[in-house]
Amino acid sequence: MMRLPKFRYFAPTTVREALRIRAGEGPDAAYVAGGTDLYPNMKRRQQTPKVVIGLSRVRALGRLRVGESGASIGAAVTLSTIETHRRMRRAYPALVHAIEEISTPPLRNMGTLGGNLLLDTRCNYYDQNYEWRQAIDFCMKKDGAICWVAPGSPKCLAIQSADSVPVLIALEARAVLAGPAGEREVPVEALYNNDGIHYLAKEPDELLTEIRISLSPGRTSAYRKLRRRGSFDFPVLSVGASLRRDGGVVTEARIVLGAVASAPVRAAGAEGFLLGRPLDETAIAEAAALASGPARPMDNADFSFLWRKEMTRKWVADALRAAAEAAA
Ligand SMILES: Cc1cc2nc3c(=O)[nH]c(=O)nc-3n(C[C@H](O)[C@H](O)[C@H](O)COP(=O)(O)OP(=O)(O)OC[C@H]3O[C@@H](n4cnc5c(N)ncnc54)[C@H](O)[C@@H]3O)c2cc1C
Repeated sequence: MMRLPKFRYFAPTTVREALRIRAGEGPDAAYVAGGTDLYPNMKRRQQTPKVVIGLSRVRALGRLRVGESGASIGAAVTLSTIETHRRMRRAYPALVHAIEEISTPPLRNMGTLGGNLLLDTRCNYYDQNYEWRQAIDFCMKKDGAICWVAPGSPKCLAIQSADSVPVLIALEARAVLAGPAGEREVPVEALYNNDGIHYLAKEPDELLTEIRISLSPGRTSAYRKLRRRGSFDFPVLSVGASLRRDGGVVTEARIVLGAVASAPVRAAGAEGFLLGRPLDETAIAEAAALASGPARPMDNADFSFLWRKEMTRKWVADALRAAAEAAA
């Protein structure tokens, strides 16, 4: 049995108190929301904070509001709260679908949207217990020097695998971050670096407090996830797509690929190609072919990376058809 290492636990009740504790404890401290990613990682000694700052008692982080202009989702709102929220289901069906595909119901009762956005990057050589990793002399992401996926690589190639992220980026969601210097709002897309170790562009002491999504009349969206087990599994390829059409032609398209790099990948060429065209099968096939260009899956997840690359075309085409058929 894998046991948690010893750590000190704080349970602040306000954002300010959480930030103060983080400032006092420094880089040895980590925030925890549902703990469904952090605690298993601590058991495997992948993440080793000496201090854990629990967010479940910070009431401001647990608020969920859906109004005429959009949604404001506290970072510690649980995934199951979102998936069973009537107005969220109506306003953001693709996001709710993506959330329903995350792990299992008991884990979604604990796991939060904020924790999902900030999920650690994943890799076959990293998501193993301590002894397994020790047997290969560890890897660059934790305790070692080499990337076993591509030994010549100067950077870690672990992948971004959070299900909610491609759709949130397709919906132009924004993240609110609170830090010692105050609060700032950034596009969710700007939260990520294409680096398996330094995968977050936020400051380590910044607390994610809220996710904001505008309601954009006329926009339709969809999510598609490739995984081995339908019951539960991390994605090995995922697609978030959103569309807007006017007079039969596409006026806005956003296509975001997940699990093909250390950061989510925008298929900008495919998005640009669709503008001004009717969304017929020819346009879908061409856009899907263009979207598979920037997808560079590595050999560090389930299934062959060549097949995951090949599947990008099919999954993007599927996501575009689903977005076209979705209710606005
Ligand atoms: C068996 C299993 C299957 C899973 N399957 C999937 C899957 O299919 N898809 C998927 O996307 N995920 C999956 N997960 C991962 C996880 O359950 C979800 O990503 C969940 O949403 C994480 O949320 P959490 O609140 O539990 O995160 P936590 O574990 O609490 O935190 C995750 C990370 O975010 C940081 N953090 C959390 N909240 C904040 C905040 N407000 N501000 C700053 N930092 C913060 C923590 O320090 C930590 O580094 C799976 C996990 C398990 C154990």
